[in-house]
Amino acid sequence: MKKYYDAVIVGCGVAGCFAALHLPQEADILMITKADTEDSDSFLAQGGICVLKNESDYDAFYEDTMHAGHYENTPESVDIMIRSSRNVINQLIAWGVDFRRDENGELCYTKEGAHSTNRILFHDDVTGKEITSKLLAQVKKLPNVTLLAHTEMCDILSGKNGCEGVLIRDEEGKLVPVYARDVIWACGGIGGIYDNSTNFPHLTGDALAIAIHRNVALKNVNYVQIHPTTLYSKKKGRRFLISESVRGEGAVLLDKNGERFTDELQPRDVVSREIHRQMEKDHTKHVWLSLKTIPLDVKERFPNIYQKCLEEGYDITKEPIPVVPAQHYFMGGVKVDSNSETTMDHLYAAGETSCNGVHGANRLASNSLLESLVFAERAAKKIAAELVADGLTENAGRRETAGEPDEDEWKILEKRYDIRKEDYQNMEEYAERCKESIWDAIRKEDEYESNHKNTKCG
Ligand SMILES: Cc1cc2nc3c(=O)[nH]c(=O)nc-3n(C[C@H](O)[C@H](O)[C@H](O)COP(=O)(O)OP(=O)(O)OC[C@H]3O[C@@H](n4cnc5c(N)ncnc54)[C@H](O)[C@@H]3O)c2cc1C
Repeated sequence: MKKYYDAVIVGCGVAGCFAALHLPQEADILMITKADTEDSDSFLAQGGICVLKNESDYDAFYEDTMHAGHYENTPESVDIMIRSSRNVINQLIAWGVDFRRDENGELCYTKEGAHSTNRILFHDDVTGKEITSKLLAQVKKLPNVTLLAHTEMCDILSGKNGCEGVLIRDEEGKLVPVYARDVIWACGGIGGIYDNSTNFPHLTGDALAIAIHRNVALKNVNYVQIHPTTLYSKKKGRRFLISESVRGEGAVLLDKNGERFTDELQPRDVVSREIHRQMEKDHTKHVWLSLKTIPLDVKERFPNIYQKCLEEGYDITKEPIPVVPAQHYFMGGVKVDSNSETTMDHLYAAGETSCNGVHGANRLASNSLLESLVFAERAAKKIAAELVADGLTENAGRRETAGEPDEDEWKILEKRYDIRKEDYQNMEEYAERCKESIWDAIRKEDEYESNHKNTKCG
């Protein structure tokens, strides 16, 4: 690891990878992840990725996204996402991503809740793994990108120029400052702060906690999506998602008596509420999902879900499975503009960590992979334009190796960047503090909203 980079990308899910692939190959880039490179939510995405199927679907795609988001979406962001979708899909295909095709070689489109038509591309029920593994493979080929696993961002170096780098805990546990012209946060969601979530537990909203500490603006932090259907289990740990496309293909929700109780294809927040209501009425800890109504070979269409359920003792071809809602996605995040710029100079955010308002109050299924890719590319292109305009000279020739500062250097760092080394010595305490600050922000936003709504009603 060097001491100076043109850009540091924190996170190597789809947002981080796509950003790396769109930065100039002359730029020196450091990409880090706090876990293994394959441990990102991007690898877990099952259902698929939306695309503007043809020009005549624009209005419906726009309306479905806005309707699911309770019309709190930022119209400009929705428009950019939809208009950029075909180009992003073409790039993915060019990088070797294999979407399901029919016997004539034409792309197949599936449907999920709250979509008025089939416009979702998929690869079995492991679309995220297919996309992310192919992108990651491309990133690993780039000679200008250093990708380091088990390397954690603890803070940013925010000084007079805005963001000037990151404070990293390296694989050996050493605290190392790394300087960069630009930093991209692609740190994923906040599921790790919940007991029940479909997310990887190490995704604890670190960028958000740092943003709060460093006065970088956040947006819609109380907009957290609960997924209606995760496999019920008495065991602790990550909840296994039963993708919405299962309901899209015809699966039905059943109460304790085996009766349907709601329209399964309403927006996620509505279906989650209906399930909670039913559980309370029935005094149960879950409801049932039957896949027997799907007019397809479910074992072939959903091989991953079939296998996982079998491991848990359920055969989806023969019996209903117990399902319960769990935290799934974070619509809020670090506030960014349409080029993914935060309110701090030289600091960008893309993917689930960021909030450009595309999802409004509730995300439409399969819009998040697309959003992450579209806005990561925009961040990279904005940075690229500035790097090229500057002639890529800033860090040229600065090839020192990053290391742990000595006592004198720490004093300078502490003064310049308002960093206290002892804050990062006990990582458990640090993580607890970060978690608490995120919960505080969520509670405050909730409180503000309910007061605001009360005032409006009054
Ligand atoms: C089970 C499941 C199914 C889903 N299905 C779909 C679907 O079908 N379609 C769809 O569009 N979306 C789906 N989603 C949502 C979608 O997968 C995510 O929103 C998207 O992948 C987020 O990508 P990302 O790059 O922003 O973050 P992630 O892929 O989560 O990557 C975050 C990265 O940041 C790193 N990181 C975090 N904090 C730090 C730190 N402090 N220091 C260093 N590294 C850090 C992580 O290690 C990781 O590499 C699903 C999500 C889940 C959980």
